[in-house]
Amino acid sequence: MRHELTRRTLTVARTDRLAPRFARITLTGPELHGFASPGPADHVKLFFPTGESRDFTPARFRAGDEERLPELDLDFVLHGDEGPASAWASRAREGDTLVVAGPRGSQLVPDGMTRLVVAADETAFPAAARWLSQAPEGVRTDAVLWPTDASNTAYFDEGTGAGASVTVVPAEGLDEAVRALEPFDETTFLFLAGEATALVPVRRHLRRELGLPPEQVQVQGYWKRGVAGLDHHAPVDPSDPD
Ligand SMILES: Cc1cc2nc3c(=O)[nH]c(=O)nc-3n(C[C@H](O)[C@H](O)[C@H](O)COP(=O)(O)OP(=O)(O)OC[C@H]3O[C@@H](n4cnc5c(N)ncnc54)[C@H](O)[C@@H]3O)c2cc1C
Repeated sequence: MRHELTRRTLTVARTDRLAPRFARITLTGPELHGFASPGPADHVKLFFPTGESRDFTPARFRAGDEERLPELDLDFVLHGDEGPASAWASRAREGDTLVVAGPRGSQLVPDGMTRLVVAADETAFPAAARWLSQAPEGVRTDAVLWPTDASNTAYFDEGTGAGASVTVVPAEGLDEAVRALEPFDETTFLFLAGEATALVPVRRHLRRELGLPPEQVQVQGYWKRGVAGLDHHAPVDPSDPD
């Protein structure tokens, strides 16, 4: 589903700490009217005062009404001051402004899915939480969380994805934890996102060894160790682009 590309200048309404290194920044403003993000792994582009932009997931959106302005929650991993996004989020205060563009398109939850497997590090917790909450009733849901900091799994404490079986592993345990959930039939959908190099072995297994098609397996590098502003359109596995 395509959307008209809109740039909005929004204002920070409030900030919350969801976990030790996870901040929720709630944005608001009249320009947020008409915002739509129906796809669980949608992304918006945020433009920071340094002039750089980074991709983030619209974690939650409340459309507002005659008395209240709409609100958009963005959930940021705080990983230090090296990157403009993390540096901005750790200092954001009520009244600060941020330019938000998109989402440009949305991929909806597939029809006919009977099982959903999500695997995410912190950067993809917002997308994974959206996948789990949008899974239709009766769909079996499994989540593999591979955070760089285990205390960040507190992100899910408010009950998102209740009913999912959840496994928490270090990045090196990702491939094995996903294999342990097999078999996957043609009505299983898998969404895996996070640090790009950690995804290479599990992507290779799912796509090449099991032969699952891209319509059933979405693997997205959301960041890459040592790379600033990773282009997520670049192949996760440069030796095996789609
Ligand atoms: C579609 C999409 C959706 C995304 N949604 C979210 C989201 O909702 N929330 C979120 O927090 N992130 C999300 N990300 C990831 C986020 O865009 C990247 O982590 C981005 O690099 C952060 O920008 P930065 O300015 O903080 O750091 P950069 O300037 O990009 O990087 C500076 C340094 O920090 C390192 N780095 C980047 N991210 C991390 C990290 N998480 N942990 C440790 N080191 C890191 C880089 O390797 C680099 O060495 C998403 C990415 C994509 C592609």
